[in-house]
Amino acid sequence: MLDRAYFENLDAEDPLATTVARFLLPDGVVYLDGNSLGPLPAHVPAVVDDVVRQQWGKDLITSWNRHDWWTLTSRIGERIAPLIGAPPGSVIAGDTTTLSIYKAVAAALGLAPGRSVVLTDVGNFPTDLYALGSVTRQYGRHLAMAEPGEVVGSIGPDTAVVCLTHVDYRTGRRHDMAAVTEEAHRAGAVMVWDLCHSAGAMELDMTDVDLAVGCGYKYLNGGPGAPAFIYVNPRHHAAIENPIGGWWGHADPFAMEPAFTPAPGIVRLQVGTQPILSLAALDAALDIFEGVDPAALRAKSELLTGDFITLVGERLEGFEVATPRDARQRGSHVSLSHPQAPAIMAALIAGGVIGDVRPPNLLRFGFAPAFQRHVDVWDAVEAISAVMAEERWRTVTLPAGPVT
Ligand SMILES: *Cc1c(COP(=O)(O)O)cnc(C)c1O
Repeated sequence: MLDRAYFENLDAEDPLATTVARFLLPDGVVYLDGNSLGPLPAHVPAVVDDVVRQQWGKDLITSWNRHDWWTLTSRIGERIAPLIGAPPGSVIAGDTTTLSIYKAVAAALGLAPGRSVVLTDVGNFPTDLYALGSVTRQYGRHLAMAEPGEVVGSIGPDTAVVCLTHVDYRTGRRHDMAAVTEEAHRAGAVMVWDLCHSAGAMELDMTDVDLAVGCGYKYLNGGPGAPAFIYVNPRHHAAIENPIGGWWGHADPFAMEPAFTPAPGIVRLQVGTQPILSLAALDAALDIFEGVDPAALRAKSELLTGDFITLVGERLEGFEVATPRDARQRGSHVSLSHPQAPAIMAALIAGGVIGDVRPPNLLRFGFAPAFQRHVDVWDAVEAISAVMAEERWRTVTLPAGPVT
């Protein structure tokens, strides 16, 4: 049986302890939602304050050059690249994940002429499905949705693009990236991965992947609405076409030419002016990962999620673990199903343990290795146990909006 001392010990020996100490979290809060909105690193407010007061306030428009606002998206891309196992010059920050999915898949279609199908899985995040619906309708292709376990078997000679989210936002189930990518390529299809629930929580390898996108505000801690990122394998840089022409993707934006000439390399995936304040926050937040080995993040994540699953088995009744028990098949969050999920989560949040719910009946607990303490695992299960024993979920007031 695990006890709190076991978790305190793990924290005392945590190789990422100095990273954990760089975050600001309110006292008394056990934050298990870093997979949805990463918390605030302590040094970020001062950086953003300087960008607002000095760069914007005093240096005004000269900041585009003086503070190199122009290349911020590329510089952030260079910092994200090692976190996702991508080479220099292949990643750029900007836009949203949804827009990036649209751009990536439309661009990927150009690499697979004559093929009619974009394949995804039915469990994919709805905004990805909506964006894929737009691309396929507008480009005269068909969107096919397979069960997650049947994606590989559904790839065929008509498949132009396979687009999947690596880690399922609901269950935490993880696709085998290397195996699916290999099968897609064997069939002549282009592989696009959504790394929203992966980047910043585990080691990744983009060597064979064609395109990828990901989120800046989840495990990368860039703040609410932080810009996303997009990766294109260098072997496609010369051929790839951005579906949305814009001056930030132009080879020479200030030539102000009427004709569009794409910039060389990943820069051509840009569209228009990007949010410098949000980029500045994301850039500063990425300091957290300087010198941090993604493999160390993954090792800690496996421990956190594995211990949580073990403790749930030892201490709780009436909850089903909806996340794969085999660590190789899961990401960095664990979902429990229970018929009273929304009320139980509302009671937990009222008591300072913050997770979220996903319909119809999943309680979701994120374990973000960069800031999580191992005792959070113990304290969360204690709190769930108390909410059930005291039946607090029966009397809690559900929030008016979704239990995010
Ligand atoms: C979080 C998330 C998104 C969010 O997309 P936005 O455009 O930032 O709203 C998209 N896809 C997946 C898989 C996500 O997890």
